[in-house]
Amino acid sequence: MQNLLHNLNPEQLAAVTLPAQNALILAGAGSGKTRVLTTRIAWLIQTQQVSPAGILAVTFTNKAAKEMLARLSAMLPINTRGMWIGTFHGLCNRLLRAHYRDAGLPQTFQILDSADQLSAIKRLLKSLNVDDEKYPPRNLMYFINNAKEEGLRAHEVEAYDDFNRRFVELYQAYDDQCQREGVVDFAELLLRCYELLSRNQPLREHYQGRFRHILVDEFQDTNNLQYKWLKLLAGDHNAVFAVGDDDQSIYAFRGANVGNMSAFEREFRVQNLIKLEQNYRSHGHILDSANTLIANNRNRLGKNLRTDAGHGEQVRVYEATSDLQEAQWIIEESKSLISEGWSRSEIAILYRSNAQSRVIEHALFTAGIPYRVYGGQRFFERAEIKHAIAYLQLMDNPHNDSAFLRVVNFPARGIGARSLEQLQDAARQHGLSLYAAVPHVAGKAGTSLGAFVKLVEAMRFETQNLPLQEMVKVMLEMSGLIPHYQTEKEGADRIENLEQLVSAAMLFVSEEGFGIDTPAFLGPKTQAVAGAPLLVSEDGTEVLDADAPLPAVMSPLSAFLSHASLEAGDNQAQAGQDALQLMTVHSAKGLEFEAVFITGLEEGLFPHENSAKEEGGLEEERRLMYVAITRARKRLYLSFSQTRMLHGQTRYNMKSRFFDELPEESLKWLSPKVQQHNWFGSPRKSAWDDAPESGANTIAQSFARKDLGWRIGESVSHQRFGEGVIVNIEGSGANCRAQINFGKHGMKLLDLNVAKLERV
Ligand code: ATP
Ligand code: MG
Repeated sequence: MQNLLHNLNPEQLAAVTLPAQNALILAGAGSGKTRVLTTRIAWLIQTQQVSPAGILAVTFTNKAAKEMLARLSAMLPINTRGMWIGTFHGLCNRLLRAHYRDAGLPQTFQILDSADQLSAIKRLLKSLNVDDEKYPPRNLMYFINNAKEEGLRAHEVEAYDDFNRRFVELYQAYDDQCQREGVVDFAELLLRCYELLSRNQPLREHYQGRFRHILVDEFQDTNNLQYKWLKLLAGDHNAVFAVGDDDQSIYAFRGANVGNMSAFEREFRVQNLIKLEQNYRSHGHILDSANTLIANNRNRLGKNLRTDAGHGEQVRVYEATSDLQEAQWIIEESKSLISEGWSRSEIAILYRSNAQSRVIEHALFTAGIPYRVYGGQRFFERAEIKHAIAYLQLMDNPHNDSAFLRVVNFPARGIGARSLEQLQDAARQHGLSLYAAVPHVAGKAGTSLGAFVKLVEAMRFETQNLPLQEMVKVMLEMSGLIPHYQTEKEGADRIENLEQLVSAAMLFVSEEGFGIDTPAFLGPKTQAVAGAPLLVSEDGTEVLDADAPLPAVMSPLSAFLSHASLEAGDNQAQAGQDALQLMTVHSAKGLEFEAVFITGLEEGLFPHENSAKEEGGLEEERRLMYVAITRARKRLYLSFSQTRMLHGQTRYNMKSRFFDELPEESLKWLSPKVQQHNWFGSPRKSAWDDAPESGANTIAQSFARKDLGWRIGESVSHQRFGEGVIVNIEGSGANCRAQINFGKHGMKLLDLNVAKLERV
């Protein structure tokens, strides 16, 4: 323990060892906030006789929670498994599982991710014959989630016009549908948990008596409901230790309220406000860039950051001609970093929007460099995985109508739209789930639906005593999914993914310890829990305590399904591999890497065009850029491209205004403003400062002849840019693009399938 403490600077030490009172640690990126929070947990357990069971810590992602647990295990000789460290959603899920009856949920309630939620809403609108042009499903979803995040049920929302009133009715109908099907969306997890604790006094007092120490990382991104939830759990006596950075508040669009920081200071009567000003992460030029940039924002709470690490290298800036070429440049740079001995997992490629990753992924794939994407299309969101999960959901809770509809006719079993309409009518008429309504359907439809029910029952029966991964295997065969994809021409990838699901189940079981040992500290009660009342559920049967290990409150299958919905999107099968890290800037929050690429720094992309429409939008983009820059320890690359293909359109971009907000002396420009080409497609190498040779031209040469009839060297005219000469052609067919020199308009990259060009 002594060692842990003497690795801290005086301010950090003061924060770690504060008395058990509410405290706010306000500090910039890389100043050790997360380290302080983790060390404080260790300190409380080690020297203050606080039981691990008396601590609740909230992190922003599952990944961060895992890291925190790993660090704690390294610091303390205790078993951290089962500690209450997780995201708001994860912790609420856990409380609801333990007290599902009091929360009014079925034991096997299932979690809807945002895609599931949207399709549930579409299904609702359809069943009520609502015009989805007038009431767009997506808008309704935002409406519902916003209301829930403010803690409001449908009857509490004030409707000020007819349109609004209709939304409120639909909100209520949506909640009824979810309740019938035993499913909860993300916002519901929190709201339901909040309501549970606020209405159920014994339960609330139990947990208030238990969690004497509540610690929250990334406090600046809490929303109003999360804030209220914390306040409820803290009661009058518990100590809340919040760490945050107002300059890194980047979730306003999802309801985060940076005002919670000052509200916290006031309402929790914070006496200990500590600022940390020493940055331990980044070299000088990187930190200077971050500081200079963020100084352009107004209304900051005000703090400084300094480093002892020296200037280090300048920030490298690169201008690409196209997104393809930007990707090639990233590949070449990464290759040379790797050959210099940098570890792949210490190199991150960040982008503002998910759509940018495709081109980069393609280039990495072609170059054979292992990479890992966070966010983006999550493993659990792929179609074949969704199908498999739906079967598992039905085995766990057959009344989940979304799951039912997803697979009732997949693989095809001759159950058509007509049969389903009949079934839906019967379900409505009798107030039943689709599954339960099957016996009410007569005729041929009834027979084939009945066969499906039998199949699900058989799957449940066959797997009831099997370990989770065996369960998944049996399901894959019995459901017909594997045989189905075997007959599909491009099914091999999908089968591979389905096999990864078996591995994911295996990994999950070993990590969560289902059926293995009981965590050591979950045995005898320690002082933090001593005075807490015993918990008896409303029907008097259940004596549950939050100390109960998870298997007691959740079957491995239920737990795995929750995990599939809540997981931050890592493809587990790739875990552990030394791979380049790809992610959006949002998901890079809290992380750090030796080298970072921030790509696509163009007006409209970063800052994002939507930000111009919203008040404070630009400042939020700037904070996002601040987060991105401060992820880097030693080397930072910034890149932008003259043209970019996004959402099927070629965009001609100006470089981001953020370049003008960075200190010139910290930047090193790697490329001349316009790439020089000779007319036949090979780059003149001397034109490049120290940038590597562009790979785009190698591709171009191999495809130059499949060019939709255009030839290099040909003169063309374009409505907007006038006359020009084709200097290069890349790709072919649907991906065919030409680089054209338009004289005073400069070099442009045009999509030959879209651009209106004429021969001259
Ligand atoms: P962010 O705002 O990005 O979440 P943070 O304030 O949480 O950053 P940490 O991630 O805790 O910062 O710390 C940044 C880096 O600095 C980590 O690698 C951490 O181990 C290191 N660090 C923190 N404090 C010290 C210290 N006193 N001595 C040496 N290294 C430190
Ligand atoms: Mg942190």
